[in-house]
Amino acid sequence: MGGSIEIVKQTFTSVRNKPVKRISFVAGLHGDELDGVYLCHRIIETLSQLKTTRPQAFQGEVHVYPAVNPQALGSVTRLWPFFSMDMNRRMGEKNDASLPSGFARSLVEDLQASSDIVVDFHASNLHLKELPQIRIIEEFDKKLIPLAVLCNMDVVWVHPSAPVFESTLGYNLNRKKIHALVVETGICLRIHQDFCEQIFQGMIHLLRQTGVLELTGPPPEIKQPQLVHPKQVALVQAKNAGLFISNMSLGAHVRKGDLLGKVVDAVRGEVLETVTFPSDGLLFTLREQPVTYQGAPLARIALPEIR
Ligand SMILES: [Zn+2]
Repeated sequence: MGGSIEIVKQTFTSVRNKPVKRISFVAGLHGDELDGVYLCHRIIETLSQLKTTRPQAFQGEVHVYPAVNPQALGSVTRLWPFFSMDMNRRMGEKNDASLPSGFARSLVEDLQASSDIVVDFHASNLHLKELPQIRIIEEFDKKLIPLAVLCNMDVVWVHPSAPVFESTLGYNLNRKKIHALVVETGICLRIHQDFCEQIFQGMIHLLRQTGVLELTGPPPEIKQPQLVHPKQVALVQAKNAGLFISNMSLGAHVRKGDLLGKVVDAVRGEVLETVTFPSDGLLFTLREQPVTYQGAPLARIALPEIR
């Protein structure tokens, strides 16, 4: 229609001619994932204050992109409306002439030109609630794990590569040698202030440890995330269609045989199955949407590290 769509970006420049490092924060690639948008608000608010009170703290450069899919955010949907395109599956495509693909290319180019490190904030879907975590594709683990452990996460999950990741922002930036961390937390359409605060502290810590921010005083204590490799994640699935009822909370350290919950048949008033944990571990994914089908994921636990 000839109108324009803008990717807004807030920049906090360095006091140095050559910034120590350049870090970018990205949110809203999926328009229904709002924790990251709120996190960008917290980061911009804090850095704006710091810029006035202690401008010399900025040894590096920070860019914040709070809404990189404005069309989807405007309608609070995962996909870019009208085209129904998933923006995190349009990256790295050269031949597609559609507007979302062109937009995706501009975003990648801009991030590539202005960042050494990128943090891409995502939230989960409406079905599964996630503890704050960073997900890393196996081939980039050597470069990314040292950065991910600085971010105050509960879990850093290294998983094998799959074709589906090849069109994501994180994968394409990492292929271009920009270190990209993909954060996953909460569920979509909600803001989890406690999780956001935890991640916010992690982001300030990351800025500090990479030398981007020079702050006074000792750095605060942060969480040591549980590092999990592909074989260290146990998925618990429903065997029946029904309603999943659980009293568990995310973050619990569970023992093999502990009760996760039950799947009930509301029509007959029957308990169809009692679900227990298959192993000891950290409960980091929990079903939030109670309606199950056979095979529906109920929980994921991070198994203890094998020593
Ligand atoms: Zn997402």
